Amino acid sequence: MKVWIDHLGIAVQDLEQTLTFFRDVLGLHVDAPEEVASQRVRAHFLHMGPSALELLEATAPDSPIARFIEKRGPGMHHVALRVEDIDAALAYLAGRGVRLIDRVARPGAEGARVAFIHPSVTHGVLVELKQPARRVPFFRTPTRYALGDLELITVSDGFFQLDGGAMFGVVPRTLWESRLPPDDRNRIPLGLRPLIVRGAETMIIDAGCGDKMDPKLADIYGLDRAYHLDHALAEAGLTVDDIDVVLASHLHFDHVGGFTSKTEDGRLVPRFPRARYVAHRQEWHDATHPHERNRASYLQENFVPLQDAGVLSLVDDGAEIMPGVRYRRSGGHTAHHQVVMIESAGATAVFAADMYPTSAHIPDPWVMGYDLYPMDTLGFKRAFAREAVEREYLIFFEHDPSMAAGILREQGGKRRLERII
Ligand SMILES: [Zn+2]
Ligand SMILES: [Zn+2]
Repeated sequence: MKVWIDHLGIAVQDLEQTLTFFRDVLGLHVDAPEEVASQRVRAHFLHMGPSALELLEATAPDSPIARFIEKRGPGMHHVALRVEDIDAALAYLAGRGVRLIDRVARPGAEGARVAFIHPSVTHGVLVELKQPARRVPFFRTPTRYALGDLELITVSDGFFQLDGGAMFGVVPRTLWESRLPPDDRNRIPLGLRPLIVRGAETMIIDAGCGDKMDPKLADIYGLDRAYHLDHALAEAGLTVDDIDVVLASHLHFDHVGGFTSKTEDGRLVPRFPRARYVAHRQEWHDATHPHERNRASYLQENFVPLQDAGVLSLVDDGAEIMPGVRYRRSGGHTAHHQVVMIESAGATAVFAADMYPTSAHIPDPWVMGYDLYPMDTLGFKRAFAREAVEREYLIFFEHDPSMAAGILREQGGKRRLERII
């Protein structure tokens, strides 16, 4: 059983008094407090390196912390030991006859799972076991970026989840799981982040999953649209009526689900009522002639109604969609998957779509298992990365849960990504 010191818990009677030392004299930063309802306490964490102090205030007279202070006065309350797998740790301890306060883990502060060992075993020290939450921060704030004469606004249609193994192809889980920790169904958190380009016209590139997904699929894909594209547009001061052009990187449901919506009487109509929609001619052909391998990704309801409504234009490789914005074929993910090159006044941004779905996919061989032509993805990525470093492209990661855009740098043969948004 491997353990580390996670934090020392201190029972506090007067928080402000206590902070005059820890915050004001030692200069430690105090995190925003968190109520732990099950314990009737408020926890304030002061992080220092890999460990922390946890100042504990009682929020009710029957709180264990209130009782502790009554009996022994304020002071050291417990030592928390971090474990990787709290269920395995509890089973191991129970197997050795160790007396436990909690036989099963319960929710603790910061989304962790915790359990206490009985002090009779530990000679008077209350010991907490803690398995920290493995969560990545979610980024959804609509954010503006000036690229020459164009304005870019990254907007969110919420989050979803896909199988971690499928997202990283031949890369073993041991290598990717620390970057994007999977849940108990092996799914990793992903963003749905279209991009708005404002120039001669107002364009949106991709539009997330939309609101038509049936509940069974929404559960499989862990779709979380508590905050979605309409919220993001409103926060950016826009509505669906402001969009002149809707551009598809490719026609998979997580990119074009938001292209159409259902009316109250069940008709499928363009979601952006004034817009012309643009897709790639061969991608359109493939999407409307699916086979066993890609059928689950090409949902006809997302794009066929656009053709019926007469708002669709089909274009070819390299097409200029509006001044400064053009398609560039990457292939690989689908035969005609496009990245979108956005250029103004010598600066370049690239909407990478499923070529670099997340910032974790920067290494050339980190190619999705979903890709139909992985060797084509590899070839494109090799050349593209060199070009991106040389010309300092601002790269947009549509599915990265935490980072909207970054610039790829290379130093001493090593690549690193500088986060910009
Ligand atoms: Zn795709
Ligand atoms: Zn995708």
